[in-house]
Amino acid sequence: MADPARYGRILLKLSGEALLGSQDYGIDPEVSSRIAREVAEVANDGVQVGIVVGGGNIFRGAGLASAGMDRITGDHMGMLATVMNSLALQDALERAGVTTRVMSAISIREVCEDYIRRRAVRHLEKGRAVIFAAGTGNPFFTTDTAASLRAIEIGADLMIKATKVDGVYTADPMTHPDATRYDRITYDEVIEHKLNVMDTNAMVLCRDQSMPIRVIDLNVPGALADLLDGKDVGTLVD
Ligand code: UDP
Repeated sequence: MADPARYGRILLKLSGEALLGSQDYGIDPEVSSRIAREVAEVANDGVQVGIVVGGGNIFRGAGLASAGMDRITGDHMGMLATVMNSLALQDALERAGVTTRVMSAISIREVCEDYIRRRAVRHLEKGRAVIFAAGTGNPFFTTDTAASLRAIEIGADLMIKATKVDGVYTADPMTHPDATRYDRITYDEVIEHKLNVMDTNAMVLCRDQSMPIRVIDLNVPGALADLLDGKDVGTLVD
């Protein structure tokens, strides 16, 4: 059971790929429902939840640019992809019983709210989950940077980066079976050893504003609730 006295407010970062499931493209409804149930469990315990979701399951600006598209147009498409993912996640969360608002860094007022920090904080205080869509609203950034920024702006106690592995390893455990997992590591060690946690912009922002990060595997059932209950899940970057 999550303990809101320990972590009152969190920012959860999911990559777009986390929504793929076994598909090559788009959103697997079973996966979004499962993630929503994990989030609902901690939200129902009283933890205030902000979420940033990426767009890599649909479009990435860099990928589109390498195929010949103008990079900034590609980044706009990538940011709009995050809005679609955010709407899908909102739908899944509301079906799991969590009132949810999507706030976008790019105005799409017929579809979701604009991001206004004070309004976002008010939603959180009222127990609504808030999904921050469209990244930072600017090209050449990533949703990891957006997640760091929003975590700092809303005064989150912890930023949680959900990945496919259960923490930060000395090397990619998929290709290096002898890699070992860190329980705790500093921001500078992550940057210096180029450990693939988040991009450097995102890491530097967290370091400079002392925003702790937990890297966890959200595919492990109950990992989020266990972490917020104070158990030693994943790797702490601080
Ligand atoms: N993006 C952007 N600015 C931002 C955040 C995202 O331009 O502040 C674009 C960028 O093209 C990126 C895409 O949106 O590739 C999807 O985001 P990201 O790659 O971070 O998604 P993830 O890898 O987390 O699925």
